[in-house]
Amino acid sequence: MNYILLGPPGAGKGTQAKKIVECFGMVHLSTGDAFREFKKFSKVLDKFLLSGHLVPDKIVITVVKKYINKKDHIGRGFLFDGFPRTIQQAKELDIILKSKNLKIDAVFLIDICFEEAIKRVMKRRVCKCGASYNTEVFYQGEVEKCNVCGCRLIQRNDDEKDIVKKRFSIYEKHLNPLIEYYRKDRTLVNINGSQNEEDIFEQIKKQINRCCLSKL
Ligand SMILES: [Zn+2]
Repeated sequence: MNYILLGPPGAGKGTQAKKIVECFGMVHLSTGDAFREFKKFSKVLDKFLLSGHLVPDKIVITVVKKYINKKDHIGRGFLFDGFPRTIQQAKELDIILKSKNLKIDAVFLIDICFEEAIKRVMKRRVCKCGASYNTEVFYQGEVEKCNVCGCRLIQRNDDEKDIVKKRFSIYEKHLNPLIEYYRKDRTLVNINGSQNEEDIFEQIKKQINRCCLSKL
């Protein structure tokens, strides 16, 4: 079974993706990870990130295709996280899957408003060691230190407000046509992203179980 997670920056896609993959064991495909898997493409990605431009569809699709075709990924099902971003990518993904007799079983749209997304992303702190935190776990005035290594936490560069705003508007521009695309083929599932993490996960879990049952 194959699923897509859609949602703006700050919607908590990363957290949900982790839970879903742990629970159901499919392959997690985020485009960043897919690019890093192949050295040649990793350099290409860095170049685009530095310049602030979006990676062209053609390159994204090439990398995703390579990732899907990896030997140890065959037969496990995929959770596509933050991909597809454009209609072109969505169409190409359908073609790739169809050539393997597969399809998208459900598209989960974790829906939150712009204000909420900004608020959440601004609350994120990260550590050099890779740990990440929400500032709500700290007392007011407390030095924000990492529980794992003790280092002082930083606000990630790409989490700064203006960049978040820009990311959000790019995202929105592409999102509506994608929503239409998946609504038409009836795979779209709306999830209210203002609920807490556990409730969001429960809703997704139920839906995935329903998809699995319908295949029996
Ligand atoms: Zn740390």
